[in-house]
Parts: sequence; C-alpha cells; structure tokens
Amino acid sequence: MKRERLLNPGPVTLSPSVRTALQRPDLCHREKEFFDLTTSVIQRLEKVYANPGHAYRALVMTGSGTAAVEAMISSLAPKAGKTLVIANGVYGERAATMLSMQGKGHVVLKQEWTDAPDLRAIEDLLSKDSDIKKIFVVHHETTTGRLNDLASIGALAKKYKKPLLVDAVSSFGAEDVQLTEWNIEALAGAANKCLHGVPGIAFVLVKSEIFAAETTQSASLYFDLWQYAKGQGSGVSPFTQSVQAMNALDAALTEFDAAGGWKARHLRYKTLQVRVRTTLKELGIKDLLSDPESTSVVLAGFQIPAGKTYAALHSALKAKNFTVYAGQAKLEGEIFRISTMGDLHDSDIEELCTELRNALR
Ligand SMILES: *Cc1c(COP(=O)(O)O)cnc(C)c1O
Repeated sequence: MKRERLLNPGPVTLSPSVRTALQRPDLCHREKEFFDLTTSVIQRLEKVYANPGHAYRALVMTGSGTAAVEAMISSLAPKAGKTLVIANGVYGERAATMLSMQGKGHVVLKQEWTDAPDLRAIEDLLSKDSDIKKIFVVHHETTTGRLNDLASIGALAKKYKKPLLVDAVSSFGAEDVQLTEWNIEALAGAANKCLHGVPGIAFVLVKSEIFAAETTQSASLYFDLWQYAKGQGSGVSPFTQSVQAMNALDAALTEFDAAGGWKARHLRYKTLQVRVRTTLKELGIKDLLSDPESTSVVLAGFQIPAGKTYAALHSALKAKNFTVYAGQAKLEGEIFRISTMGDLHDSDIEELCTELRNALR
C-alpha cells in the first residue's frame, strides 16, 4: 500500500497498530465490551495531564473536533451574560459564529491573525464589562501555528474569576496544559490530531463538579454534555458512537502512553520541526509569525517566496506522497503550513527536506 505522509493538521498518518485496530471484530455499542472500551479510553484521556482528585472528567462523543468545541460552547457558555471570545485566527472566529448562531451574548476581541492575544485589551474588557461570565480561547491557533499564551490568559481568568473554555483540539497531547492553574472549566479535543487516532471521536474535559452544581446551557440535545455525563461514568453513551474510531483511539492511546505521554510527543514534534525549519531557513523561507518562538511544536506557517506558488509546491510534494497544507481564508496563497503530527519517521522528514530543497531552491 502506498504510504501517504500527511503534513496537514489532522487527519494524521496512521501507525500500523492504529490501522490494525480498525480491523477489530464488529461490536455493538450497547454491549459490555464497548462500555469497557469507552471507560478505558476515558480514563486515559483524563490522565494525559495532571488531574489530581479526578477534578476533571472526560466525555467522549462521535464527531470531528468542531463537535467537541460546539458541545462545550453549547453546554457551558452562559445564556444570560456574555462570553469573551479571544479571536486571532479561524478557530477563535468560529467560536464567535457558534455563539451568534446559538443566540448567546458575547464580546469578540478580534485581532490580526498573526498577532498574539492582547493581554491589556483582555484585562480592560474583564475589568469594565461585568456581563462577561466566561472566556473562550484557542490554545494552539492552527491558522498560523501560534501557541496562545494560556498561562497569562489563565492568570487573568483567575484574577477576575472567569472560567476558561479552551479549544485544545490541535494541542491536546503535545503541548503543556495546566487545568486548575489556568482556571480551565472545560477543554475540547479530538482523536485525530496529536493523539494520532482516526477522525470520529471528539472529547471534552470538564470540571467534574459542574454537573451537580449547574444546569446545561444547551439548546441542542446531541451537543448537551449533561446527556453524556449521565452514563459515561460507566462507559455508556447516549447515542451511537463510532465503534471503529474508538478502537483506533484505544490503540493510539496505548502507543501514546508507552512512548511517554505528552512530554515525549512534544519533544518528538519539536525535533522534527527543527529539522524542517532549519532546511527552510537555509532556503531563505520566512516564518509567517514575526515572533517564531511563539509557534507550537505541532505546526508552523511559512511564507511562499516570491516567484513560487502554493499550487506548484503542493503538487511537487504530492507527487512524492507528501501532503502540505495551504493557508486558510485571507492567508490562502500567501503561506504554506507543515505539521509534524502523526506517525512520521526520521527518514520521512529527511526525504521531505530534500524535496523542499528541490521545490523551493
Ligand atoms: C482541527 C481543529 C479543530 C476542529 O476541526 P474539525 O475540522 O472539526 O476536526 C478545531 N480547532 C482547532 C484549533 C483545530 O486545529
């Protein structure tokens, strides 16, 4: 079988063990074996980051990463009062769209996509607008590769007592997350990014105490986390789950834990990214961000040099079984992005560097 090396931010190149897990025997989602599988997946998701006293529980649902974000916003963004949305990319803006469609109050701190969240502007809004009840922020803004500074935003959230709702879809499993320290109430993630599963399972980590203390803010049934909280303590889900995607996530988490968890994955991605970056630097290719040290280890954006086009770069690499990723919306045609997620070997990256030299010299 042809091996496609995916350098886009999910879905990722599968490892042999994850691919094999897709061939497990058929299983009904209402059988004990599936409840046990779900429980095991949930328990491992809850342990990816320090979670003393089971302060956070994981809820799993069938859908892409956006489903997890939508479930979090639907269930936890307040109907009365406002959510402050920090938007410096496509995913921050998408959250604002969700709040508009749900008819919920919100204030958007809309920034240039290439800029870091403006901490002074955030503090200004929090100190002046007492209607703001919660803050939404994207951890790794995949639009540009920027890792938003959650430690600083979390400190403001703590100071003003506003819970954080975090889109960690493209950082969960590869970047540091400090749940309690950063005042996180809930965090959305997905199987098919840094965890290396297949698309289909999404999850939300939520403060366990919420379910007893509060009521859902959701007008949707499927995206109501309270529906999932009821039975998932014993692995029972309200709606049909993608059994195959759950099997794949099970295998992916086994590999993830055996390799040393998020810290090991962080180092692995970083090593690969440094190799790609060094090559591009030698070729005179510029980083998208003016402060490249703020880039995640997961993905970096680079400027298309004068005289070259994204289309030509994409097809030259595609011919060698590498899939690079374009810029989104206003960055389309201006940049290309390279993610080092997935089961990529050292030899893949060496070959990629050679092909980048051939295409961009
Ligand atoms: C990939 C991604 C999502 C989810 O996108 P889907 O297409 O629904 O999987 C959400 N947020 C961020 C930051 C992402 O990178």
